[in-house]
Amino acid sequence: MKYISTRSKIEPINSAQAILQGLSADGGLFVPEEIPKLTLQEIEKLIDMNYSKRAATILQKFLTDYTEIELGECTELAYDKFDSMLKVPLSILVKDAKNTKSPVGVMELWHGPTSAFKDVALQILPRLMSLALKKTGETKEILILVATSGDTGKAALAGFADVPQTKIIVFYPDGGVSKIQRLQMVTQIGKNVNVTAVRGNFDDAQTGVKNIFSDEKIREELAKSNVKLSSANSINWGRLAPQIVYYFSSYVEMIKSDQIKLGDKVNAVVPTGNFGNILAAYYAKKMGLPIKTLICASNKNHVLTDFFKTGVYNRNRDFYKTITPSMDILISSNLERLLYHETGGDIERVKSFMKNLNETGKYKIDNPLKKKLDKIFYADYATEEETAETIKNIYDNFGYLIDTHTAVALSVTGKYRGKTKDMLPVIAASTASPFKFTSSVLTALGKSVEGIDDLKQLDELSFFTQKRIPINLATLKDAKILHENICGKNEMAKEVLKFAAN
Ligand SMILES: *Cc1c(COP(=O)(O)O)cnc(C)c1O
Repeated sequence: MKYISTRSKIEPINSAQAILQGLSADGGLFVPEEIPKLTLQEIEKLIDMNYSKRAATILQKFLTDYTEIELGECTELAYDKFDSMLKVPLSILVKDAKNTKSPVGVMELWHGPTSAFKDVALQILPRLMSLALKKTGETKEILILVATSGDTGKAALAGFADVPQTKIIVFYPDGGVSKIQRLQMVTQIGKNVNVTAVRGNFDDAQTGVKNIFSDEKIREELAKSNVKLSSANSINWGRLAPQIVYYFSSYVEMIKSDQIKLGDKVNAVVPTGNFGNILAAYYAKKMGLPIKTLICASNKNHVLTDFFKTGVYNRNRDFYKTITPSMDILISSNLERLLYHETGGDIERVKSFMKNLNETGKYKIDNPLKKKLDKIFYADYATEEETAETIKNIYDNFGYLIDTHTAVALSVTGKYRGKTKDMLPVIAASTASPFKFTSSVLTALGKSVEGIDDLKQLDELSFFTQKRIPINLATLKDAKILHENICGKNEMAKEVLKFAAN
């Protein structure tokens, strides 16, 4: 299987190269030349496998330049630290006995070492990169550069810590992340990690990182220390491919628990930001997983809902900070891959959409393309109030505790079912532990958080719901602070060079 760019004709490359490079030199994203298929018999075989085996089986279809043994080891080690035997367990919510034909299976993607769904991909990406270095004969050290508004930074640190031939530096806005998020990052252990606060906001940190990536002088300087820059964000194919796995895994878990039979159709709902997670569901559908509709759930920043409804992508609008911060995004980068596939690989059109987006902040797709998307996607959004109500309703009705992002998905599921009367079983992506967003969750449940410190809120939520705090969060209050570095927003390059050289 070879990889090509969404924006111009390039010499096809192996997956190892695509993973190391991250982004194509023409600014496009790497896509597989064709989408591999799984037959129903192959899907059936997944039933008796554990999660790591399932992952190796799916990844083998895309990463054909990796051996079976390599993928077996990678998937085994990547999910070793997950705090659930099933790695991605499925909680089934069924209203009543009469309604058993329309269960909602909530796939809990947050049992990894940082309690965020990013772990599923970021626990394996460093291992794939490490092998890619060997395969391509690259002798330089890879330096991963991250700007974070909270969650991605910690998940990337946890993934890359002590991975040979790699280093990672994470910049976060000083005072711009929650106390828990900061503690998660500054207590990170590992010989190859650096965490630095930036005197500025998230945009300053992100701009600083982008500038470093595009600065030839810095690249040359780094080359002298035998270091090459790379990125771990969600446009990397090595982050996307591992996300396809859990749609297959959850589908066969639905079979295992007698909710569906092999071949039955389901719908999938995904709380969406950068369009990575839902794109993985799209790949799963294209590969032959019986998914009927992909439900794209957004928050108050519903640029994607408007896109699917009108065919116009327009980022020129107010930006809102919501209780679902991981979805506060106005440019959903991975949409480019969908446009590529659904235009039949029309690079000229994709390039012109992206050019318009870059220059005017918007683009419009034509009617035939919109009709194609209509057949696959349904899009809607949840308001802040609806999100909070859903947390309370799900808790009151099922005794099941969800975070705000998961609530967006379940709120939109209700809207979808109400509007279309389509009551097929649903697989819903649950993207964060409720303990990562304690203040919003407690408030939604009707508890006041006034004057209660972030760490105390963990205990409060645990006491009130009788649910266990994930161990990585429970131990934060005693963890040693290892990173107190801080720099000005114009000093980030200097910090990178200093870290690369030591
Ligand atoms: C990253 C993230 C999302 C959005 O996922 P995308 O792949 O960017 O669409 C949703 N919820 C949580 C908790 C996240 O961390």
